[in-house]
Amino acid sequence: MARIVMKFGGTSMAGMERIRNVAARVKHVVDQGNEVAVVVSAMAGETDRLVGFCREASPLYDPAEYDVVVASGEQVTSGLLAMTLKAMGVDARSWLGWQLPIRTIETHAKARIERIETDALVAAMQSGQVAVIPGFQGMMADNRIATLGRGGSDTSAVAVAAAVKADRCDIYTDVNGVYTTDPRIVSRARKLNMVTYEEMLELASVGSKVLQTRSVALAMKEKVRVQVLSSFDSPDQTDLPGTLIVGEQEIEDSDMERQLITGIAADKNDAKIIVTRVPDKPGAVASIFTPLAEASINVDMIIQNDSKDKEETDVTFTVPRADLARSVDILEARKESIGFRRIITDSEIAKISVVGVGMRSHAGVAAIMFKTLADRGINIEAISTSEIKVSVLIDEDETELAVRVLHSAYGLDAAEAA
Ligand code: ADP
Ligand code: ASP
Ligand code: MG
Repeated sequence: MARIVMKFGGTSMAGMERIRNVAARVKHVVDQGNEVAVVVSAMAGETDRLVGFCREASPLYDPAEYDVVVASGEQVTSGLLAMTLKAMGVDARSWLGWQLPIRTIETHAKARIERIETDALVAAMQSGQVAVIPGFQGMMADNRIATLGRGGSDTSAVAVAAAVKADRCDIYTDVNGVYTTDPRIVSRARKLNMVTYEEMLELASVGSKVLQTRSVALAMKEKVRVQVLSSFDSPDQTDLPGTLIVGEQEIEDSDMERQLITGIAADKNDAKIIVTRVPDKPGAVASIFTPLAEASINVDMIIQNDSKDKEETDVTFTVPRADLARSVDILEARKESIGFRRIITDSEIAKISVVGVGMRSHAGVAAIMFKTLADRGINIEAISTSEIKVSVLIDEDETELAVRVLHSAYGLDAAEAA
C-alpha cells in the first residue's frame, strides 16, 4: 500500500466522458489498496473564459474578486469527480481550499501556499475515502479565497503530496511525459524517462509549460517524487513509466551516457525594450532597473552596448509582455532623471533555451547553439546563461525553425517521427 496524490489537468477534466475516464483511473489505484488524494484542474478553456469575464467587468479589476471568479472552475470539476467516483462505488468527497484549509500568503492572483492543514485529510484517506481537492486555490489569512497563478494546480498537487507525506505525486496530463522539447512543435521530440529537478526547473522557467515552475521548485525543496504521465493511456497501463523527476545522483547512477543537452524550450511571453543613449556613468543602469523592480516587474536578459564615445550607451533588456506597457510608462515618467534619448520596444521576439546538467562538465554547448542558428541565418539579439542553461533571444517568426534545428544539432531527434 502506498499513499498517492494524483493530479489531472484541464484537458483530462474537459467534459463528463473524460471525468469518467479519470474516475476509472482513480478507482484502479484505489482498488490496488492505495490511499489516494486527487487534485483537479478546471475544464480546459474554463479559466481563460472566467478571466475574460473579469476583464470585461473592469479592466482594472480587484484581484481578490478575480480570485473569487477564477477559482470557481476547479470547484465544479472537484464536485463532479467526487460524484462520479461515488457512482462507481468508490467512497469520495471534495475538500475545497477553504475547507482543509490550504493557507496562502502574499498577493491575490499569484498567491503562495504557506501551509496545508492535513488532520482531516489524512483521517479521510486512511478511512479509505478518496479526497478530491480543487487545484489552484487556497485561502488568505483574512479568509478570502486566493488563486496560485496560471498552471497552479501542479503546485497544489505537489504541496498536498508534501503535506500528507505521499509516496508519489503523479501528474496526469495530455502527453505521456516530459519530452526533449514540446512534442506538439517537434514531432521528433523524445520522451525522457528521467529528468533532474534542476533541469525541470530551468525548462519550466524558460517555457516548457508541462509543469508550473513553482511546483518543481517545491518538489525539489520537499523531495517529492513527481512523475508525469498521460491520462489518456488505458488505466491498466498506469504502471507504465512516464517521466520521473529525480535528484541528480539518481540519474548519474542509472545513465552514464547522458546527452549533453536534456531539453530545449521556447518562450514567447517576453518583450524587448531598448533604452537609447543612456549616460555612461555610475548609477545610470540602476536608475532604469530600480523603479522596474519596485513595480515587481521581472527583468530577464540585459545587454549594455559598448559606448563608442564613452559618454552614452544603449541598454537592452526583456520584460514579460504583460508588463511592457507598464514598464514603458515607468521609464518615460523618469526620462529626465535617467537622461535617455528614447525607448524602442519589440514584442515579436522569442527566447530559445537549451538546458542540461551535462553542460557543467562540457565546454562548447553555447558555441554549437550559435553556429547552428547562424547556419540558418537566424540572428541572435541577446544571450544569457546559467550553469545548466543557455538562452538566446531571436525573432518570434523563427521560433519553430530554431527549436527544430537545435534539437537535431544536439542529437535529440527520435529515430522516427513520433
Ligand atoms: P495540463 O492541463 O494537464 O496542466 P498543460 O497544457 O499545462 O497541461 O501542459 C501540457 C502541455 O505542455 C503539453 O500538451 C505540451 O504541449 C506542453 N509542453 C511544452 N513543453 C513540453 C515538454 N518538454 N514535454 C512535454 N510537454 C510539453
Ligand atoms: N485552471 C488553472 C489554469 O488554467 C490552473 C491549472 O489548470 O493548473 O491556469
Ligand atoms: Mg498545466
